[in-house]
Amino acid sequence: HYRVRFAPSPTGHVHLGSARTALYDYLIAKQTQGQFILRIEDTDRKRLVEGAEEELMNSMRWLGIDWDEGPDKGGPYGPYRQSERKEIYQKFAHELIEKDMAYYCFCSSERLSKVRQEKQKDKQLPHYDGFCRNLNKAEAEERVKNGEPHVIRFKSPKQGTTVVHDLLRGDIVFENANLDDFILVKSDGWALYHLAAIVDDYLMKVTHVIRGSEWLPTSPLHSLIWQAFGWKEPVWVHLSVFLKPSGKGKMSKREAADLSNDGYSIFIKDLEDLGYLPEAVINWVALMGWSYDDHTEFFTLDDLVEKFSLEKLNPSPAAINFSKLDYFNKQHIKVLDDTDLGGRIQPFFEKAGYNVTIKDMEAIAPLVRDRITTLDDSVEKCAFLFKNSITHAPESLAIEGKTSQETHRIGEGALNVINRVSDWTIAVLEEKLTDYMNQNELTPKEFFSFLREAISGQRATPPLFDCMQVLGKERTIQRVEESLK
Ligand code: GLU
Repeated sequence: HYRVRFAPSPTGHVHLGSARTALYDYLIAKQTQGQFILRIEDTDRKRLVEGAEEELMNSMRWLGIDWDEGPDKGGPYGPYRQSERKEIYQKFAHELIEKDMAYYCFCSSERLSKVRQEKQKDKQLPHYDGFCRNLNKAEAEERVKNGEPHVIRFKSPKQGTTVVHDLLRGDIVFENANLDDFILVKSDGWALYHLAAIVDDYLMKVTHVIRGSEWLPTSPLHSLIWQAFGWKEPVWVHLSVFLKPSGKGKMSKREAADLSNDGYSIFIKDLEDLGYLPEAVINWVALMGWSYDDHTEFFTLDDLVEKFSLEKLNPSPAAINFSKLDYFNKQHIKVLDDTDLGGRIQPFFEKAGYNVTIKDMEAIAPLVRDRITTLDDSVEKCAFLFKNSITHAPESLAIEGKTSQETHRIGEGALNVINRVSDWTIAVLEEKLTDYMNQNELTPKEFFSFLREAISGQRATPPLFDCMQVLGKERTIQRVEESLK
């Protein structure tokens, strides 16, 4: 029963990097009948973005990654919003001071920047110089009581090494001489990530910490804090970094403008708006640094719950390939039934201003299923079916090699045939209109392009008879009549 947490800071939308972390968390929690915790890391009050927490929950729900414990759901180890846990962190920070593993620091920001500058001049790491590290404890307490501004710093060891064991990378050895005396609690009394996350992971009984590799450099500090409290560390899993996006796909058009883009600036919300399926996004993201074998590519969330394993994660940089995303989207669209696909394309028609019902959408689902890359493509393909009237460019209704009188006569004849169809099915339409085409010694290209243009005002549509069938007899006749005026 693994207990894992996804711990975003509510500073914006969910990006690819966090979606991947959350997905892996979810998978191993489900797999081991454990719990997946959503914890909001909002102690950095300056970086809060209005509505971001709601946004991120929406993106998670859209992806289908649901949590067992969280700010909205509660759970046995709440509250799950760090801003509601300020006193807890202060209590633990004081425990570290008691243990002589942390200390009050009263240095002003002017002093700190001077120290930093001097160290940089001497080509040293711009770390804190330890001015307050060995202050007399009673005196320091007294200054705190008198309201002197202060932070709480961790007393990092200065000699030896700290070894962090990462599940994917094995033992990573860090020289303690390179460690700073990191701030645990800021002067405003708020704990920083380094302390808050560890206290919470401990109190929330987290067994595995899965997170981005941007946390590797500070992982020795985290390890040391766990040890300072005398707690047993969780299993550390630092995921791979992302390579610059590659491949052509709908998303690449958007990304092209920004070459510095990475997994941290591709947002789940944008993928949703562009007409990608959550199933496809999940499939795509799952394979960023994980593989099952060397050939299986198609995975549903349930497949992943069954097949995923942390051991198969690859620590080397992961590709973000947009053509792959388009490919997965097509694959996952293909397996949706009419009602499901219909329900997903409906909002795109509505957004484009069409007043459509789920019945309409179910009717066109078979027409678009194998022909679209993203859901919004269905609008371009099928919106003509829901227009009140169609406009035709006069030259587009011509049949090659025929005069306009001849074309008109052919159109009238087709209208007669259509009028006489009583059983309005694809097969009957095809049979009757093909007969008529043959009688008039026309090629399919000549005749069907003409009819297609007549009913749709477009050159390309899903198969003609399917479209006529969805359009219905009355509207088909009306459109052909209009075209002959
Ligand atoms: N709040 C951190 C972030 O947003 C969480 C990192 C972690 O998972 O420990 O990246």
